[in-house]
Amino acid sequence: MCGIIGYIGSKEAVPILLDGLKKLEYRGYDSAGIAVLKDSKIQIKKCKGKIVKLENLLEKATPKGNIGLGHTRWATHGKPNNLNAHPHNGCNSEVVVVHNGIIENYMPLRERLISEGHNFISETDTEVLPHLIESNYQNDLTLAVKKSIKEIEGSYAIGVISTHDPEKLVVSRCGSPLIIGIGEGEMFLASDIPALLSYTNRVIFLEEREIATITKDGAEIINSEGKILQKEVVNIDWDEEMTEKSGYKHFMLKEIFQETMVIRNNLEGRINLSTKALELDNLSLPLDKITEIERISILACGSSYYTALAGKYIFEELTGIPIEVDYSSEFRYRKILLGKKDLTILISQSGETADTIAALRACREAGSYILALTNVRGSTISREADSVMYIKAGPEIGVATTKAFICQLMCLYILSLYFAQVREALDSSEINKIISELIKIPQMVEIILLREPEIIKLSEEFLSFHNFLYLGRGINYPIALEGALKLKEISYIHAEGYPAGEMKHGPIALLDKTFPTVVIAPRDRVYTKVINNIKEVKARDTLVLAIATEGDKEIINIVDRVFYIPKTSDILYPILSVIPLQLFAYHIADRLGCDVDKPRNLAKSVTVE
Ligand code: GLU
Repeated sequence: MCGIIGYIGSKEAVPILLDGLKKLEYRGYDSAGIAVLKDSKIQIKKCKGKIVKLENLLEKATPKGNIGLGHTRWATHGKPNNLNAHPHNGCNSEVVVVHNGIIENYMPLRERLISEGHNFISETDTEVLPHLIESNYQNDLTLAVKKSIKEIEGSYAIGVISTHDPEKLVVSRCGSPLIIGIGEGEMFLASDIPALLSYTNRVIFLEEREIATITKDGAEIINSEGKILQKEVVNIDWDEEMTEKSGYKHFMLKEIFQETMVIRNNLEGRINLSTKALELDNLSLPLDKITEIERISILACGSSYYTALAGKYIFEELTGIPIEVDYSSEFRYRKILLGKKDLTILISQSGETADTIAALRACREAGSYILALTNVRGSTISREADSVMYIKAGPEIGVATTKAFICQLMCLYILSLYFAQVREALDSSEINKIISELIKIPQMVEIILLREPEIIKLSEEFLSFHNFLYLGRGINYPIALEGALKLKEISYIHAEGYPAGEMKHGPIALLDKTFPTVVIAPRDRVYTKVINNIKEVKARDTLVLAIATEGDKEIINIVDRVFYIPKTSDILYPILSVIPLQLFAYHIADRLGCDVDKPRNLAKSVTVE
């Protein structure tokens, strides 16, 4: 949440800051601002609203200068308005700060600084930072930042500029991400990789409590004790095109249409397509770990939690290992009953989800081995986990996840097949059978995507409803949850996901002809049970849209509308059934005129608790 960008070099800073903010807008978009330093003066421009409003403001008067900071906010403390927008400055506009995170002890700090004569103008926690750095300043900005971060509690990624030290940017982080981009005679700062891809692929990931002093020629990085560190420069293999809409109306639609490709990326190098052998040799998870574990906990937030729930069905079915699934935010505050015989799988697209990072650290303390599924190399979770499996989605910009969800599912399938092989939980012919189906999935996804016009038509038919129930059973229950979440997050229509068999224990009371139901009903082992549930729904005059298996003629007579997906193994249906639900939510939201890629109140990469 919240995007930070910084530049120091010989070019004009404003266009680079604006470009970076646009690439980071998925992280927060309730207000935005920039600060530019020139001739020992800092000019700040900021406003409530999206980056385009800031851009209009800057067109009228563009601050000149080669050093600057930018910020796109997702408010935690204080309403989204002009005053609370970042950057924030100290009393004399001599120290200016952008911040991502929450300063938890900001109240006592604020009171102390006010009693020392500092004047506060915003409601944010962030504003204590420039005042604190100002009061700690004694001829060296880096030392002032070093001293100040010792006094703060909470999470932060900060960028600081000062008229006292006009040739540098000073940055630090703890709990919120920050990377440094290395150019030729110019340096960059950003919350995330996509903001830098137009300028450089060479980045340094800043670790907890490290402080970097950045000039146009390089960065000196110290730890919180002041020791100079030699940091690895990482080459990122994403390119700029990956962060463009490429002709699609929205990133979300582009990302749905990339699903065939990203599924293939996940098969590549993991399953030999001709021999069908699993090749997970570069997964640094020791074989004895796989054989000795007695239980797996899967922890995640948001949609990743739903892939985790599907993971429970997949792993238990294929490996026989008991699986527990929990929200990271709940898990971390409970008594943690993990030990050496446990494996914890953490799922986070960004690798920076604050709750999942906290859960990771709690698991580490309890002695559990940690495997992370993430999309971002160098992210906090990828660095702190014992092993990492990358989900190979490429940059995902749409705030509502689509392709990363599919990639996480792919990783869970491949991983559980690998575990089944290593633990001999299934014989090779059973494993081969599932692999043969798995490698057909990309063609099946292509078929579903070609049927987008059918979904467009369905979205028009269901456009006027204000409530939806999504039902699924067994492994498709988590997909009902995900389908409902997609609809509510981007179209603001109320939707509930429920296990189809549970519906009669409560939600059925809601149903009438104004409350349509979307039912995932593939021809799997619970098909007849789901048909019974559909009949219960239909008896309440409810309109039913079913996601069913190609060739299922019977269901047409029972429901009102059907969208067919190709036939596959029972266990693989989620990867197909979720796609029409993503498209359905997308087209409803688009027709309603919603800002699909940047839904209100949401941000991608939730780096605050
Ligand atoms: N806590 C700060 C604020 O509310 C920063 C929030 C963010 O990370 O965007 O302004």
